[in-house]
Amino acid sequence: MGPQSLQVLLVDDNPIQLSLLRHLFHRHGHMTIEARNGAEALIVLATEFPDVVVCDCVMPLLDGYQFCRLLKDDRATRNLPVLLLTAQATGLARFWAKTCGADRFLVKGRDLDHVVEAAMALAKQSLRHHATPTVPGLVQENFGVEAIQRRLAQALEQRLIETALRDSVARLYTADHDTPRLVEGFIEIIQELVLPGALLVAYRSDEGLLCHGVHGSSATAEDRVALEQAAAQLGLFDSVPGCHWRSAADDAERRQNLRNPVQRIFPATTPGYPIVGTMAFITENKAAEDFERLFEIAAEELGRLLSLEDSRVRLYHQAIRDPLTSLYNRKHIFDMLSMELDQCGRFGHGLSIMLVDLDYFKAVNDRFGHAVGDQVLRAMAQRMQVGLRKVDQLGRIGGEEFLVYSPQTDLEGARILAERLRQHVAQEALSGLPIGDRVTISIGLATWEGPEDSTESLLARADLALYRAKAEGRNRVVG
Ligand code: GH3
Ligand code: MG
Ligand code: MG
Repeated sequence: MGPQSLQVLLVDDNPIQLSLLRHLFHRHGHMTIEARNGAEALIVLATEFPDVVVCDCVMPLLDGYQFCRLLKDDRATRNLPVLLLTAQATGLARFWAKTCGADRFLVKGRDLDHVVEAAMALAKQSLRHHATPTVPGLVQENFGVEAIQRRLAQALEQRLIETALRDSVARLYTADHDTPRLVEGFIEIIQELVLPGALLVAYRSDEGLLCHGVHGSSATAEDRVALEQAAAQLGLFDSVPGCHWRSAADDAERRQNLRNPVQRIFPATTPGYPIVGTMAFITENKAAEDFERLFEIAAEELGRLLSLEDSRVRLYHQAIRDPLTSLYNRKHIFDMLSMELDQCGRFGHGLSIMLVDLDYFKAVNDRFGHAVGDQVLRAMAQRMQVGLRKVDQLGRIGGEEFLVYSPQTDLEGARILAERLRQHVAQEALSGLPIGDRVTISIGLATWEGPEDSTESLLARADLALYRAKAEGRNRVVG
């Protein structure tokens, strides 16, 4: 037996196919063990330790998919590579081959020349990943027909739970688009599943790092702090975020006394995306072991959920904001104004608008360059937000033009606001400009005159007023 020689378990109910495979492997100097169906193969695995399994799909008693499922669900045999051989290249056969956990899938007639090479590659890969050779070591009680059926049912149920878990997390995303509510929904699902002593999810949001947690009566305040610290050490955050804890509304006995509690921490990641969150919990050691695979799935789904949500928030921000000043962009401020005017029509409040234009801004660019011009625009955009109420909205509608609307404000109120803005903006020096240089603004006002007044006519009146402010010498409010 050379250094490259493998022991291969061949499983096929067709004697001709079996002998064909045997010859192929022997010709390349490998050793083979054989079984005629999945059930026999399980018995063989109790005493033999092959490097790789090459298995037919359609067989009596226990077919290739079910056999593979059993192997992949058993910790003892999970790492034993399985190569499935099927008669068809497409359709349901391929789907089952992929979902039963097989490591490779070859089509009998077409790919058979590669079977030895593929089996070698799988065996090598698995040896590289696991320093010690795979030792299946299935216990004796696993071989009766009933025992096999029981294991099969367990394996299918496990798969069903995993699918249900993925599905319920994915559904959250279709139901809700609010990050904290999504995270709460996720926590709800996981705590139903495992009844942990304490469970937290920390995640990045546009408001910084947030942390939500649920705990049962068994988890003391110290336990929770320890959990927060352990989660922080994973490297997602520099400091421990203050976690918003709530106690679980659940009277289950299991919460009260955890036997042998352990901490578990999982990063929530999605391939190709920076780490977005962490899931950490305290639960009974037994639950941590029994549900190990489910926790991995949960963390994976959390990673997907949080990165999707992160992308959505970023995209939305990009869609409604102007990149230079971060103010609302033209389309969004106009959309908001239209909606606000609908509300005014329905509830009978007033509303006023201001069109703001920087004076002689072209000269700023001409004298100091476009980069300084941009810097001034950003600073002016900042200043314009000062003094606005929460209900007043500000957007950038053109190069150096801005729109403010103020609900429940008449022309007199708008004039006071505009005057305050004009003075405030002109007061302070701007970095990048010579000391003493000021940039001033002109403002045109208009007030909404009732349901017959359209957004366009309102804006046209403000534009006219702005034009007059410019004509009358700039740095003034007209309307
Ligand atoms: P007025 O007082 O009549 O408004 O004079 P003005 O020079 O401000 O008016 P005008 O509309 O003729 O020029 C606006 C200038 O604003 C033209 C352009 O150079 C400048 N501008 C527009 N958008 C940007 C921008 O994003 N960055 C920079 N740096 N300049 C911009
Ligand atoms: Mg201007
Ligand atoms: Mg202009």
